[in-house]
Parts: sequence; C-alpha cells; structure tokens
Amino acid sequence: MTGRFLDSPILYLKGVGPSREKLLRAELGWKTYEDILYYFPFRYFDRSRFHSIAEIEEDMPFVQIRGKIYNMATQGVLAKTRLTATLRDDTGMIELVWFKGIKWVKDSIVPGKEYIVFGKASLFNGSLNIAHPEIEDASLRDQSQVQIQLQPYYNSTDKLRKSSLDSRGLAKITKALIGQISGNIPEILSKELVQKYKLVSREQAIRMIHFPCDLPEVQSAKRRLVFEELFFIQLQLIKAKIIRAEKNKGIVFAEVSSVFNTFYKDYLPFELTGAQKKVLKEIRKDLGSGMQMNRLLQGDVGSGKTLVALMCMFLAVDNKYQACMMAPTEILAQQHYESITKFLKDMPVKVGLLTGSTPKRQRDELHELLRSGEMNILLGTHALIEDTVQFRNLGLVVIDEQHRFGVAQRARLWKKNIIPPHVLVMTATPIPRTLAMTLYGDLDYSVIDELPPGRKDIITWHYFDKNRYKVFGFIRKQIDLGRQVYIVYPLIEESETLDLRDLNDGYESIIREFPRPQYQIGVLHGRMKASDKEIEMQRFAKGETQIMVATTVIEVGVNVPNASVMVIENAERFGLSQLHQLRGRVGRGAEQSYCILMTSYKLTSEAKTRMDAMVNTNDGFIIADVDLKLRGPGDLKGTRQSGDLDLKIADIVKDEIVLKVAREEAIRILSAAEFHRSPENEVIMQELSRRESRMTNWSDIS
Ligand code: ADP
Ligand code: MG
Repeated sequence: MTGRFLDSPILYLKGVGPSREKLLRAELGWKTYEDILYYFPFRYFDRSRFHSIAEIEEDMPFVQIRGKIYNMATQGVLAKTRLTATLRDDTGMIELVWFKGIKWVKDSIVPGKEYIVFGKASLFNGSLNIAHPEIEDASLRDQSQVQIQLQPYYNSTDKLRKSSLDSRGLAKITKALIGQISGNIPEILSKELVQKYKLVSREQAIRMIHFPCDLPEVQSAKRRLVFEELFFIQLQLIKAKIIRAEKNKGIVFAEVSSVFNTFYKDYLPFELTGAQKKVLKEIRKDLGSGMQMNRLLQGDVGSGKTLVALMCMFLAVDNKYQACMMAPTEILAQQHYESITKFLKDMPVKVGLLTGSTPKRQRDELHELLRSGEMNILLGTHALIEDTVQFRNLGLVVIDEQHRFGVAQRARLWKKNIIPPHVLVMTATPIPRTLAMTLYGDLDYSVIDELPPGRKDIITWHYFDKNRYKVFGFIRKQIDLGRQVYIVYPLIEESETLDLRDLNDGYESIIREFPRPQYQIGVLHGRMKASDKEIEMQRFAKGETQIMVATTVIEVGVNVPNASVMVIENAERFGLSQLHQLRGRVGRGAEQSYCILMTSYKLTSEAKTRMDAMVNTNDGFIIADVDLKLRGPGDLKGTRQSGDLDLKIADIVKDEIVLKVAREEAIRILSAAEFHRSPENEVIMQELSRRESRMTNWSDIS
C-alpha cells in the first residue's frame, strides 16, 4: 500500500480537479503525489518577522505587517471594479487592493480590527500598495498554539498563476498532501546510511523541506534530500557501468605491431608529453582488457588529444580492425585528414575522408572500400553515421569535441558493429571534476593535464571599444612581423541575420583600416557554402590572407600556427568556455600570441568577471570552474545534451563533498559481492529498479 501512495495520480488530491490536473501536468510535469512532494520550494519567508510600514520598500520579496484596516471602498464598474483599503500601523499607511473576490473580502474584514497582512508591495502610480494580500485575524494568530513556520515559496508559471496557482496556490496543494503522508513515505536509504550520515528520515525530510519550523530544519531536510538525489544518480551510473562491463564483451586489441611502433619510433616528430603517455597507457589497458572501452578524454585545446586518438586508431589497424573519427565540422575533419596523411607519409594505412560535401561518386567508392575492409581509417563529420556507411569490422570510434554531438547521434555509431566498438570521447571543454562525476560517472575518465613543451601562455587583454584604434595599431605591427590575425564576431542562433550584419559592418571597417593590396582579408561564416569556407580557410592557412574576419565557425579545432592574434568583438556576448575555445585558436606556433577581448564600456558584473578570468588565466580547468560558478548548475542541462541532468535539489558546485561521499557509497554498495542478497540494502535496490524503469536509460550512450 505504501508504495502506491506516492504513485497516486494528483487528481485524487483535494483541490485538484481535472482542469488543474491538466495544467499542472503541462506546466510542472506533475503526475503523481511524488512529483508534488519532490517539487521543492526555492525560498522561505519568515512569518515570525513583522515589518513596520515605514520600512517597506518595493524590492522586498514579501512583507508581513500587523495593523488595522480602514477606508474600504469599491471603485470602478463591472470588470474594472476594485476594492481598496488602507492598512495602518504606528509608523504609517499603505494601500491594499483587490481585483477579485471583492464581495468576500468586504464581508470578512471588520474595519478597525487588528490583522496580520502578508504580501508583496509594489509601486503603483508612485505609491506602494499590496495587491491581494493574505489576511489573518491577529487575535487568532496570538491564540494559536502552532509554532509560526517559515512559509515556502515555489516557482510558478504565468499560466498557473492565471488559475490561482501562484506560489501560495501550490503551497496549499502541497500542504493538503503533506497532511496525508504520515506512514506513507517508504524509506529508500538503508538504515546503515541513515545512521552513518545522521540523516533524517525521508518522510521527515519531505515534511520539513516544505513546511519547516525553523532554518535548521531546512538544513537537515536538504542534507538528506541532496544525499538521496546524488546517491541514486551515482547508483544508476555505476550500475550501468558494471553491467556494461559484464555484458559487452569488447574487442581485444592484443597486438601492438608495425603501424603503431613504426609511427612511434620513426615518424613521430616529437616526444610525447608525460600526460599523453599516461593516457595512452590507460587506453591501451582498456583496449586489451576484453571489455568494451567507454572513455572520456579531456584535455585543454592544444594539449595533443588528436594525436593520442590517432595512435589509438593505429592500434586498431594493427589488430586488423577499422577505426573512425568523427569531428563536428568539415573544416576540422579536413584538418584531421591532412595532419594524419602528413604523419603517415608512406605507411601502408589507407585513410579516407567523408563529409557532407563529398561528391557522390567518391562517396560510393568510399562505401565500397569500407565494406570490403580495405579502408583502415575513416575521418569525417556526422556523415559517418548515416546508415549507408557500413564497416567491415569497426573496432574503435573516436568522437572529437564531443559536446557538439547529440546523444542519439552517438548511439548510432555504436550499432555499426556486432560487438560494439570501443569508444573514445574527446572534449576540449574542461569539465570540473564534480560535474564530470555527475555527467559522465558511467564513463572512464582520462585527462591530459599538460601542454607540449615550449608553448607560451597567450597574453590576454581586455579593451573597451573606444580604444579600438590602439588595437588596430597592434594588429598592424603583428602583421608587419609576418603574423596573422583572427577577428571574431558573435553568432547567436536566434538572430543570424543580425549577427551577419555585425560581421559585415565589421568587415567593412576592417577593410577601411587595412586596405588592399597591402592587406588581404578573408571572411568566414556559417551561411557560406562548405566549399567557399574551405577556400577561405585554405587561403588563410597558406598565409595568403593576413586577417580572417569570422563568426564562431572557427571556434573548434582550426589549426593555423602562424596566427598569433585573436580579437574577439563583443566579447561580453560569449560564454567563458567559448572565449577560451576561441583563444585556443592562437598560440599554436612558436611565436608569442595574444587574445584581445573587445567589449562595450557598460558591462554587467558577471561579464566583468568573465573578462577578468580570461585575462588572469590560461588554465582551462580554472576557467571551467569559474564558468560553473557563474552560470550555476541550472544552466548545465545542455552540457550532456540529453537534458537528463535534472537536479531537483543538489547543487554540483556547493554539494561537491556530498557528491563525493554519495559516489563512494554507491561504488561500495554495488561492488559488495553480497549486495544482491543483503536484506539491509534491499530498499535501495528496489528504489533503484523503480527509477530505472521510470526513465529512459541515459547511460547507454556515448
Ligand atoms: P588538441 O586536439 O588537444 O587540441 P592537437 O592534437 O591538435 O591538440 O595538438 C595540437 C598541436 O600540438 C598539433 O600541431 C600537434 O601536432 C602538436 N603536438 C601534439 N603533441 C605534441 C607533443 N607531445 N609535442 C609537441 N607537439 C605536439
Ligand atoms: Mg583537437
């Protein structure tokens, strides 16, 4: 019986009729009692605190006043009717106003009597008033034995508010439900965990998070619920990983032979960094283990990930398997192709390139070579995952710059072999460890935390637009030294035309500043045909153009070592990780490189923090941390693109320690051999399978 209480449809609840049920489902996703109880308030109002009218200001979230009501009067006619009244205390007066339920209010308020009034003060025609306040008889409050509670505040929506389901309305529904929960909320953590971490029971936590008596109650409720939330996420991730290890036999790359060795000994033009060696070792261990590899490889831009991936593909080839690498843009795929062919020289490895713009005839040929197995390595864009692309024996899939690919796209690659290929996911967007544990807790994890030697830190400056002439002067000097320059304009998808205008205006002014024939300027944006983009990129790469005016299409991966200056226009419009990515386009050669952030003079403090972070550090992991703190976890959904990271209460920045503990406990419990038989952990297991059956399995990806 108890299990079913939480699953009861919200329609069963008093105060929720069919129309509200529909609305609540559409707006908040509420279906069951559980959804209601796990919709937590984001703030509380202290109902034990009273404000005097004199101290009330417009921007206070809510105010509670004790005073007497006078001068009740209706004004206007028909639909426009409103009721006004004056609330007075020792310090002053404020107007109260009602637009609805006028008769009821009029009948129930006794002028001159003392009331407790609760509501939000707003400015109307130059003076403050409170619309639709909550009114309570002060003498009743004084007599009441019940402790004054903190009043919960819930997020609502416009549509809900129109049906009187503002925060207060939602609180009413929740309160009605809380009245019934006693004995109906089964515990889902083991006694051991509850005792070990001194957690309150689930029932208590739910009661206290909605209607706490004081702040310490909020704290203990939160502690319990945060642990619960993170613990079950970790259980799911780790269980998925264990199952995959059992179920998915991996292809064994036992051989390290001619291709890998020849390349390593004779062809590699430089020494691998310590970090690259370490990561290669980790990967080789995976590939030889007999289990399918699912590994996330993180490393800052320029840390040499692509090279590591390449060497992994050689391992596949040595073991008579095919390998493919998917890049997010054609330019990038093309660059991979070029650098690989350059590295390989005359080695007997056949490499192909497949993108959206590969001509049909060539495409058919490629398909044939892949099916027959003659083609060893295929590089390309998402054209790789089309169903017509069939491999003879695909052994390794590398996904570069992972954040650009949707989950579904990655899943399709999986299916290209009977035994699923090993998967290496690479990302240059450093993810703080806590986030990685939450988002990729089911993947193994390697980091390249070292740049190849000789790299100079990129010097970053922040300039206001009005000092543009100084920047132009600097650019001129750099070009005179033989260097090349990127000038990047923001591109925001909602308004591509506007951005294009920015780009075109910018281009015009750059041409005026840097006239032909002395200077050659290229332009690159997402609306161009792939072949035109290619031509522009090639011209820049060959040094035929000195300045490349571009939108963020160049963000990812582009490699022109002679480019030493990155100017970012309207830098305040970019997020931190994007700024860092863009900066990574320079500093790839031997020369000192520069990144110049141009912004308007007026900056929000958040934008200022972003600029400062860029100026102060080149370390992608520090940047990622600042970014996470600035944006908060609310904005992280897109990171894993599936949007499944829908944390209700945990905050991966603030709750880092709880997250670590929850993960350790999840690992400990799942790896204990006796786990499945232990009655102690049965409640956990039950809850886990309930959750698994409820959600699409998002650990089956990458
Ligand atoms: P990432 O993909 O991580 O951004 P790349 O693999 O493209 O980095 O490497 C960036 C540049 O550094 C490339 O030109 C590559 O040839 C070079 N590189 C990679 N590893 C080393 C190394 N160990 N020593 C010197 N240069 C390296
Ligand atoms: Mg790369």
